[in-house]
Amino acid sequence: MSGWVVVAGLGPGDAALITPEVSAVLAEATDVVGYIPYVRRVAARPGLTLHESDNRVELDRAAHALQMAAEGKRVVVVSSGDPGVFAMASAVFEALEAGPAEWLGLDVRVLPGISAMFAASAKAGAVLGHDFCAINLSDNLKSWDLIEKRLRLAAEADFAMAFYNPRSKARPEGFGRVLEVLREACEPERVIVFARAVSTDEEALRVVRLAEAEPEMADMRTVVLVGSSKTRVVGDWVYTPRFVE
Ligand code: SAH
Repeated sequence: MSGWVVVAGLGPGDAALITPEVSAVLAEATDVVGYIPYVRRVAARPGLTLHESDNRVELDRAAHALQMAAEGKRVVVVSSGDPGVFAMASAVFEALEAGPAEWLGLDVRVLPGISAMFAASAKAGAVLGHDFCAINLSDNLKSWDLIEKRLRLAAEADFAMAFYNPRSKARPEGFGRVLEVLREACEPERVIVFARAVSTDEEALRVVRLAEAEPEMADMRTVVLVGSSKTRVVGDWVYTPRFVE
């Protein structure tokens, strides 16, 4: 039997948001590889080996998955949300590029998932209903200067924005700085949605204006949606119109 690697997104948390295509591939897998909390979302069964790893070893994990596929295993690399959004799909291709030439002949596929920004935008209404961008606020893999530059230019271009990895214990001050940059570039009434643990039992959505936003409103389980200057609050919903006058 020839092996394969599928990089699959498990969605934001609720099992109902895992696509049928991802469920089907998990049912055929011999091995599942990924960061501990994501691997724990996959049900154990006879014949399936679950490999849990720390979140700092993404390239090793990707190379391990490719190596197992080369040995004939059917491997699923799991990410939360969509695997192409600040997640494992790129890591698998980086490992493929750096690895032995034979790996280029492997059967490697990527299956999309529902990213946190889409689940959060839908819960709130239609925050990302017009042009938007997504920015990873972690400075693990890029400089803070680049984050700040992208943030300023995106605000200037009046994109709605989705911030991933907004605030961690290792980087408590970064998100406060992000709010300062937004305050310099946007009006105080700008709508911000702090969407925590969307589609899980702990889900909490908070809609505030930029003037009231506090760094403590975000943590690593929060995706932060910043509206454009056109984003409006109507009743309980937040939406961005599809037109710009
Ligand atoms: N590939 C994932 C993102 C991984 S980065 C995706 O497409 O969603 C991890 C970050 O995603 C977290 O720090 C948080 O900002 C966001 N996130 C993931 N799941 C979330 C959820 N259920 N609710 C809110 N934010 C979430």
